[in-house]
Amino acid sequence: MLAAIEADNAGTLLQLVTSGSDVNELQDWDSGGALILLRPLHLGAHRAAVSSVEVLLAHGAQVNLLDARGWTCLHYLAVSNADSDRKTRVLQALRRAGADADWPTPTQQIPLHFAARAVAEEPFLSHLLLATRDPGANDVAGRTSLHYVALAAERSVEDVACSGYDGAAVSAITEDMQVRVAAFLLRFRAVDPRAPDAQRLTAADIAAARNRLELAGLLRRAEVPRSCIGSRWFMPLVFCLLLGAAHVAGLFFVLPLIPSILPSILLGLALVSTACAGFSAGFRDPGYLKSNFNAGTLPAGIDPGSFCYSCQHVKVLRSKHCRSCNKCVREFDHHCPWLNNCIGKTNRTSFYVFISALFIDVGSLGALSLASVLRENSRRAAPDGWVCSLVTEVCSSCNTHYGLGQSVRWVVLACCIICFVQIGAFWFFRTRNLLRNLTTNEVHNYKRYAHFKTDDGGFRNPFDRGVCANCHAYFCSHEEERENVLALLEEVTARSALSSTRGTI
Ligand SMILES: [Zn+2]
Ligand SMILES: [Zn+2]
Repeated sequence: MLAAIEADNAGTLLQLVTSGSDVNELQDWDSGGALILLRPLHLGAHRAAVSSVEVLLAHGAQVNLLDARGWTCLHYLAVSNADSDRKTRVLQALRRAGADADWPTPTQQIPLHFAARAVAEEPFLSHLLLATRDPGANDVAGRTSLHYVALAAERSVEDVACSGYDGAAVSAITEDMQVRVAAFLLRFRAVDPRAPDAQRLTAADIAAARNRLELAGLLRRAEVPRSCIGSRWFMPLVFCLLLGAAHVAGLFFVLPLIPSILPSILLGLALVSTACAGFSAGFRDPGYLKSNFNAGTLPAGIDPGSFCYSCQHVKVLRSKHCRSCNKCVREFDHHCPWLNNCIGKTNRTSFYVFISALFIDVGSLGALSLASVLRENSRRAAPDGWVCSLVTEVCSSCNTHYGLGQSVRWVVLACCIICFVQIGAFWFFRTRNLLRNLTTNEVHNYKRYAHFKTDDGGFRNPFDRGVCANCHAYFCSHEEERENVLALLEEVTARSALSSTRGTI
């Protein structure tokens, strides 16, 4: 079967598959000297054999199965030497079948790391980047995709032997190619160029040490933080302006048409609650970890995966390093660009109040805008019912003086509907996570954490203690949570010690 895939001979492969060969079976493959235990789909991806991959997928090949080293088919595709167009087509076919671009190897390398190391072409890289939820992730040695770009031209025997990289292709990598890929990753702000690896080296340090001066220069320039106004405060400013403009428009054009004062009071209360909760969530310390270690290198006896190389400390369970704030946050949920702050253990309650109040605020303003549009409309003759008269209104409101106010009401209404749907969906997912005692980060990246995996590779949530206890843990005292986390940490450490013992045997 592997020979048919190498030749991309779909006819022979189809015969084999229909005659009962197992499409998911692990098989030995000779990769120019080294024997690798992989599945047919892995080889299909590595050869970017479009027809073979389609045949395999159509006959029950599972996309997220691992080879003997813990690679998925996307890891194989990322280091493929095939042309970008074929690789992109295979990537799209695998993605349609549910391939996960964030699946890490046992050393926490994601397919994007491999693609960066193999200096993949931009069209393929852009598709892979879009499919990757956490493109800035680092492996157990603290390396990001930019470190891998800087290391790309290095012919390490170990890398070539264990990764299936083609030696000739590696030596053909020029600095121009590395600069192109690094510039691409930087342009999309996918990876933090300041992130150090386990040896405290940034990608620029690695490039400079290898005499890639142009690449080092590009990475050094990217390391300089952008100006305050240019980045950090831009989104909060846009948010305040949009919210303010919608309410000013509502004050002048919507509320005067509402006969009762009560809706205005409710809207005002929702706006004040949004502002207060937003201010609290945006300016409060989200639970930054204090540095607990300062010796420059990884302390002996500590699992490299549980050490933050940027902050130089041992990570606490459920904490994560935020690349925007460049700090580790306890029970990291996500970084909110609209508030320019992380959402973590200590400000998540304010954040939940903020999005709830914003949801009510936008909903109320939308409902009042709709009421005012209908009311203004009913002043005019409406012989064919309100739907027909609304359509007439849209057409006439553009070019008459009478229609100015009505146009503003329509714009406010449209904006409110769009925001209402988006904030509603966000609120729904936040609430669901809250009831399950999970953070947004954990929901997206659970595969990176050993404590979410069952022994047979499935998912379990060790933090779920029932809806009431989960709500209590989210909103109230965290002391009890601490006890549980400490107990869990011991259990996880014991489990990982056990599994590493198994591995060495
Ligand atoms: Zn950190
Ligand atoms: Zn942050």
